[in-house]
Amino acid sequence: MNIKVNILKNDGEHENIIVSSDLIDVIYELIKQTYLGEKIIYVKNPTNADNEELSDFLTYILAYPKDVDTPKVIVSNEHIKLNNMSFNEYKNRTIVCFSGGVDSTGALLKLIDEEKNPVALWCDYGQPYKEPEREAVEKICKKLNILLIEAVLDLTDLIAIGGEKFGHVFPARNLMIASIGLCFRPKEIVLAGLCDELVVPDKSLRMYNEFERYFGVPLYSPFVTMTKTEVLCLWRAKWNKYLSADETVSCYSNNGNCQNCSSCAKREVAFVASGYSNNYPIVFTNQSKLIEEHWFSRIDIFQYERRTDMLIALEKFVDKLTPKLQELVLFNCSKYSDEIKKRKKELNNLIKQ
Ligand SMILES: [Zn+2]
Repeated sequence: MNIKVNILKNDGEHENIIVSSDLIDVIYELIKQTYLGEKIIYVKNPTNADNEELSDFLTYILAYPKDVDTPKVIVSNEHIKLNNMSFNEYKNRTIVCFSGGVDSTGALLKLIDEEKNPVALWCDYGQPYKEPEREAVEKICKKLNILLIEAVLDLTDLIAIGGEKFGHVFPARNLMIASIGLCFRPKEIVLAGLCDELVVPDKSLRMYNEFERYFGVPLYSPFVTMTKTEVLCLWRAKWNKYLSADETVSCYSNNGNCQNCSSCAKREVAFVASGYSNNYPIVFTNQSKLIEEHWFSRIDIFQYERRTDMLIALEKFVDKLTPKLQELVLFNCSKYSDEIKKRKKELNNLIKQ
């Protein structure tokens, strides 16, 4: 399978190239067979890794969501080396898997701040609302004056087959994007995952820990111990000179900031709790049902950071919330008052860095 790539350079020039690899072909096959409901998938080994270990890792990558039957992957003894077309002009750089959100933009800013000259990689794989996403990604890279690799891999047909069963979770999506990154022979790949969001297998601790063993290049998240709120505290402290966090996109509605979905609600918690924004986000009203029913029902089992960030943000605007939400916020703020104090101190220390 050939991946069409458009490289947007800092000087406004662009270049069209093609890359391909056996690994990309194998991952494509995995996604397709998973969507088609196969119980066992046989593939040849596209790496130098041990067959059994790789079989186990790829089976793990596909095992999500929990309530859906997912296949077992068996990697055969046969190695393939047939279809590898890499592009070496940007060899040994750090590639950031980029989507225009707070997390991946923050990762770019951190690397820019450390003078590591990162390259952004964005993938158009036929996701809904890819156009607003593309627009945001291009605008941010232009402002930051960094090289943007846009890869086109049309998976629309597969999304049509399996989209309903798997919902918004696209199996092995991050692994596929990282594999495209490998075609550019990077020094390392950054996939920005936050400590409270390492849920899908291909953005999990195991993915970070084992990627290099199978694919030869380190893959990591600079924010693996942080929440979105903490990333925004760092942003306030260090990165505003490069870009305002308001330029990132929170969701992929038509305007990238619908203020009426769970992803906008999570984003606004982080903006308010970090003090990045001091305005009332209307998503707290629009999504009050979600917050009341899905968040507060689990508040006692949330990680400490997620619980306190949410309470700190909601408490700031408690007068504006629905009566039911006001009651929940006040009750839990008093229940967790010691934790909240401790958390506020931690966040303050980050801002003062
Ligand atoms: Zn939204």
